[in-house]
Amino acid sequence: DIGADAMNAIAITARSLGDAGKVYLERIENYRKYLQKTDKCVVAGVTDVKGDRHLRPSDPKQAHPDFHLRIVEKRKDGIVLRGAKVHITGAAYCHEFFAIPCRALSGPEDSDYAVAVAVPANAKGIRQIVRPFHGRISVDEFPVGSELRRMHTDSLIIFDDVFVPWDRVFLCGEWQVAATCVYNFALMHRRTGCAYRIPMSEQLLGIAVAIADYNGISGAPHVKEKITEIVIYLETLTALSRSACLDYVMHAGIPVPNPITTNIAKYHFAHNYHKIVEIIQDLAGGLLVTAPTYRDWQNPETRADIEKYLQGNPEVSTENRLRMFDLVRRLTSGDLETICLHGEGSPFAERMTILMEAKKIIAKSKKLVEDMAGIKK
Ligand SMILES: Cc1cc2nc3c(=O)[nH]c(=O)nc-3n(C[C@H](O)[C@H](O)[C@H](O)COP(=O)(O)OP(=O)(O)OC[C@H]3O[C@@H](n4cnc5c(N)ncnc54)[C@H](O)[C@@H]3O)c2cc1C
Repeated sequence: DIGADAMNAIAITARSLGDAGKVYLERIENYRKYLQKTDKCVVAGVTDVKGDRHLRPSDPKQAHPDFHLRIVEKRKDGIVLRGAKVHITGAAYCHEFFAIPCRALSGPEDSDYAVAVAVPANAKGIRQIVRPFHGRISVDEFPVGSELRRMHTDSLIIFDDVFVPWDRVFLCGEWQVAATCVYNFALMHRRTGCAYRIPMSEQLLGIAVAIADYNGISGAPHVKEKITEIVIYLETLTALSRSACLDYVMHAGIPVPNPITTNIAKYHFAHNYHKIVEIIQDLAGGLLVTAPTYRDWQNPETRADIEKYLQGNPEVSTENRLRMFDLVRRLTSGDLETICLHGEGSPFAERMTILMEAKKIIAKSKKLVEDMAGIKK
């Protein structure tokens, strides 16, 4: 998904350059055909390590100039890159990655940072420091068929003077369009985020309903209210996500999801996520973190007590109640909270885009009330 989002962003950026972008468009199309033919998996390295967030990439006050990926040499046969990308999901097991700028650039001093390329994951000079996923189901949890939860790894990727041949260079110094590139990537990637968040939100609704039922509290009015809250969360996301596609707009001849709706959808699911987790943890009760473990369940000395005393709803076995606690704990863990908040961009990034994209409707609304008030300008 993320590779396609990056490729489309690069294509829009190249088109926005007019004649100057033709060479990049040709390379992008060749690269697309190469991927189709070889079925390679490509991830996107967008987020730079950035250093001091208030300082521009080339600002001499940065501790060093390599916090954003940059061109350190232009050669006859290609360019050489130095820098580091961070949080790159799936990089440890992809074939290649795109690297594109993660921010707008405001002047020619930053032109070395305006670079978009595709590189093989094992190119000379690439090093990855991979954070392992904590996806293994522990011995304290009830087994669910597979020991592993399907989670990705995330990499810190170091570009230690990596050579990229010209046919894999899609932006090289055009600082004016770095914003176009990152803006369109973020737009498409936030829509991608909305798509996978819908089934994840269905899981949240599912565990809330199930644990309320297993605890025997489903009929209580405040519980129904809480379930309603999660339904509203899920259905708002689904509606916004769908509407973002139906109300698409054209960027340089390529249809892209509606920018305002997409950003509101992403903001909605990230901003309200912790509230939904709070509801689920509230419905689950303290056993969520204090329940005896699967090992206690297996122990003949303790099992009978657990079975007798930890049942909730008489129609649900204690084992199923404990299994559901395990799942609730896994699906509301702290790492998932952070992914929800920062994956596809931090909440403030969405708010900034929403305000920027809302300029027209803001002006139109002001004019509307001025007309209503009889104000003539
Ligand atoms: C699980 C996970 C997977 C990810 N996968 C990928 C991936 O595959 N590829 C990829 O490229 N990226 C990936 N990301 C990166 C993600 O897009 C970033 O985390 C996100 O854009 C925020 O950047 P950051 O983490 O550097 O945080 P920061 O930018 O440091 O943000 C932290 C806080 O600082 C604020 N802030 C930042 N800059 C400024 C400023 N100039 N002035 C004032 N406030 C500021 C932000 O609003 C936020 O509140 C992933 C992130 C996560 C958590």
